[in-house]
Amino acid sequence: MDKKRIVFCDFDGTITQNDNIVAIMKHFNPPGWEELVQQLMDGKLSIRQTVGRMFAMLPTSRQAEIVDYAIHNATIRSGFGAFVDYCKEREITLLVTSGGIDFFIYPLLAPFPIPREHIYSNASSFAGDTIEILWPNGCDEHCDNDCGMCKTTIIRSYDPARYHRILIGDSVTDFAGAKLVDTVFARSHLIGLCEELELPFYPFETFYDVMKHLEAMDKHETDIGG
Ligand SMILES: [Mg+2]
Ligand SMILES: [Zn+2]
Repeated sequence: MDKKRIVFCDFDGTITQNDNIVAIMKHFNPPGWEELVQQLMDGKLSIRQTVGRMFAMLPTSRQAEIVDYAIHNATIRSGFGAFVDYCKEREITLLVTSGGIDFFIYPLLAPFPIPREHIYSNASSFAGDTIEILWPNGCDEHCDNDCGMCKTTIIRSYDPARYHRILIGDSVTDFAGAKLVDTVFARSHLIGLCEELELPFYPFETFYDVMKHLEAMDKHETDIGG
């Protein structure tokens, strides 16, 4: 039986060239944000705690400036638009699974025909004095990493008996998911992590590389099937 292909695609550093949360923090530079990152690296804070506390240091009075900076500072990786079309034509489900924040992800993805329900991210509220991050996609009972936006929870909700699961990512926050799926496309830090565990992966720099490999996989399957 043919399995249906589904893609779990990271956003920051994967669909965009760089990490947007880091870019926002570097630019607005609220005192103490680097210490929070250090505590995350040392395993003293979870991703959810770190991201929540970093944004809580930014005043909502600067909302327009912050949103504007995030959107205009980001660059979409080459080939992404073609990849969205490619998935649509091949009936491959494309899910964006991101630990980023709604206020920059939705505007940056607006030019592409991706249904809103296929975009998973954290949310935000500008109702108080400082930015509050909301967590509508938390960890299930199988994950105790306190992810905030739990990628493995989403991956687990697609039965491996029915789906060929494909992950595209760039960093440590994609690693747990990479261990679960059938096919991994990796760049940057995720390459080193996969190599350490001898986890098979395809390296990529642009989405044209990803499409090339998916085409080759197709051809291979056709050859085997006769
Ligand atoms: Mg990333
Ligand atoms: Zn989790």
